[in-house]
Amino acid sequence: MTTESKDLQLLTQSRLGAARACQRLHHIKYELGYSAIVELGARRFGTLMHKGLEALWRARQAGTETYNPEGALDAALAAVAEEADPFERVKAEVLLTAYASRWSDDQYEVLGVEVQFEAELRNPSTGAASRTWKLAGKLDVILRELATGRVVFMEHKTSSEDITPGSHYWRRLRMDTQVSVYFEGSRSLGFDAEACVYDVLGKPQIRPSSIPLVEDGAKVVIDANGARVRTKDGKKWRETGDAAAGYFLQTRPETPEEYRARLVEAVAAEPERYLARGEVVRLDSEMSDALQDVWDTGKQIQEAKVAKRAPRNPSACMQWNRACDFFEVCSGAASLDDASQFTRSDNVHPELAKAS
Ligand code: SF4
Repeated sequence: MTTESKDLQLLTQSRLGAARACQRLHHIKYELGYSAIVELGARRFGTLMHKGLEALWRARQAGTETYNPEGALDAALAAVAEEADPFERVKAEVLLTAYASRWSDDQYEVLGVEVQFEAELRNPSTGAASRTWKLAGKLDVILRELATGRVVFMEHKTSSEDITPGSHYWRRLRMDTQVSVYFEGSRSLGFDAEACVYDVLGKPQIRPSSIPLVEDGAKVVIDANGARVRTKDGKKWRETGDAAAGYFLQTRPETPEEYRARLVEAVAAEPERYLARGEVVRLDSEMSDALQDVWDTGKQIQEAKVAKRAPRNPSACMQWNRACDFFEVCSGAASLDDASQFTRSDNVHPELAKAS
């Protein structure tokens, strides 16, 4: 049982995504209330960036009259300062610094940050409100454009995909249900948003590396006996490894500050790979298509529940570029009862401040 059982159930973007990917996944997460304990790398970085961006925009909201970009960046950096992995922290700091600089002159008044909504889900055919579901979510930022007075809402995303203009990333947004549902959400909050500003940060794929040791102005290569190796003619030090021949280049781990320098250089060289912002709008026909999709997904969830069926979808197990959180369970290698791997909660929407 979850805390939703007495009231209308919340249909969030995460829940819709789970139901569309795999009914077993939806059942485990949203009906049984299980989640995996370990937060995996890519998601952890997304969460970290979200914290930094939230702090940055809250600082902007607090100081609309006397907006201080440096103060906002300081707030963002403070929000990621507790990240234990120094390389992840550096990655977040570099991206947040680049973000604050790239968009420092945007002209918005901040109307709200992390604003939660609950909205009716209406039957597209009859207009009647669902007696099972209500839409729910959180708008990252609500803004008023100073020049035009237009109200828009902003969504922050981090992505490993190509986010440059014209890429599939942007074309797919035309069908994105979340954007459509969030237009409904903004209306339910009394903001008739004219556009969604999609604010994307590309995840650097550059990883911490190894730095060759240098002595006497040359990289150090040793043989299997630990002796430094010279070139064939004996005139210089050999500077390349060759495992088959038993020659090993000597290295040390890159420091976080060295890693930072490489990241800064990469972001400065190709800012469009790391920082992209675009407006997404919805025609009435696109809105009704999207809400029909949501309605149908809600109906399918209910039908599966009534039938007490939650079929697995093996095609979805790796769809997040990693194994599904419950892969070990579905493949018979682990049990949901294993408290070291899984936890159970009545609150199946921890991303919302209060799940009703
Ligand atoms: S492991 Fe695969 S079948 Fe099991 S819940 Fe996840 S997506 Fe569904």
